[in-house]
Amino acid sequence: MTRSVVSLLIVILLFCVSIVFLREEAGPLVRTRLLMGTVVEIRILDEDAADFDEAVSAAFSAMAGVEAMMSPHLSDSEISRLSAAEKRLSVSAETREVIQRSLDISAASQGAFDISIGQLIHLWGFAEGEPQRPERKLIEETLAETGPDALAVSGTEIIKRSSDIAVDLGGVAKGFAIDRAIGVLAAAGVRHASVNAGGDMRLLGDRGGGVKWRIGIQHPRRPQQILARLDLADVAVVTSGDYERYFEEEGVRYHHILDPRSGYPADACQAVTVVAVDALTADALATAVFVLGTERGLALLNSSGVEGMIVDQNGQVEMTSGLKEIISWP
Ligand code: ADP
Ligand code: MG
Repeated sequence: MTRSVVSLLIVILLFCVSIVFLREEAGPLVRTRLLMGTVVEIRILDEDAADFDEAVSAAFSAMAGVEAMMSPHLSDSEISRLSAAEKRLSVSAETREVIQRSLDISAASQGAFDISIGQLIHLWGFAEGEPQRPERKLIEETLAETGPDALAVSGTEIIKRSSDIAVDLGGVAKGFAIDRAIGVLAAAGVRHASVNAGGDMRLLGDRGGGVKWRIGIQHPRRPQQILARLDLADVAVVTSGDYERYFEEEGVRYHHILDPRSGYPADACQAVTVVAVDALTADALATAVFVLGTERGLALLNSSGVEGMIVDQNGQVEMTSGLKEIISWP
């Protein structure tokens, strides 16, 4: 009798301990992977986060798939093959979508965003990681081929106006990959997640219980400092800056966002942050606004129906009216 009471007590005790143990295990699921030249972090805050491990793997795989199609560093990627092609190449639906949406943003930004400047990017050596200032004559020759009509989508094919045109999706592919990852997570039933690729991110839902995500925006000139915070849910937030990939020569900063009109690094801004429904739009518009500068940049943000903040070359901050409602200063 006492024996069975003791064993019952032990069973009850084990049950309680296992509950406590499970409770402790429940918490965010956070995984990281190196993709597209940056650390990508996926964070799931659902109560049953641990159940979504496979979904997170699938989301990373979707991003790796985008990289395999669109990287200029992989010689058999669709983008490398398109750049090498004489006139035309049939590509996947994903690559077509990214190119078509890039061309739309190119038109909306009057060519400030331009994916036909692959040769120019190559000339500056930013993609290769060995940047250098090219001769002006070479820059001018390269620019003669580029522009918003340099590429077109026709059926399943991309048509190049000239064989010399190289395509660079460095200003959009990361955003598209983030969107794909969020799509995979949402389809698996995840409700509260963030996909963060080196500071460019998209949020799925809120943090739970109506609590927004609080996202810090890095100060463009003080690396350890937060410039501002944004309270967000269910949107993408992407920043383009002149402070991540650059080199200096004779006191001049040369960075990786080029003005397609001059062929030289765009000099109107230090940083641009865009908040949009999807990350591809936010990514491309951040790059475009960076080239356009404050006045024309704000006009593009407003006509595109997105929110954003511009830090100009003097450190002066301007923003869309909607952003003022969700921003806080440290
Ligand atoms: P990051 O890649 O650092 O997040 P961006 O999204 O602003 O920064 O993209 C910069 C990349 O976009 C460059 O490395 C280059 O590949 C490409 N790029 C540079 N200038 C332009 C431009 N004017 N239009 C379109 N793409 C550009
Ligand atoms: Mg961009």
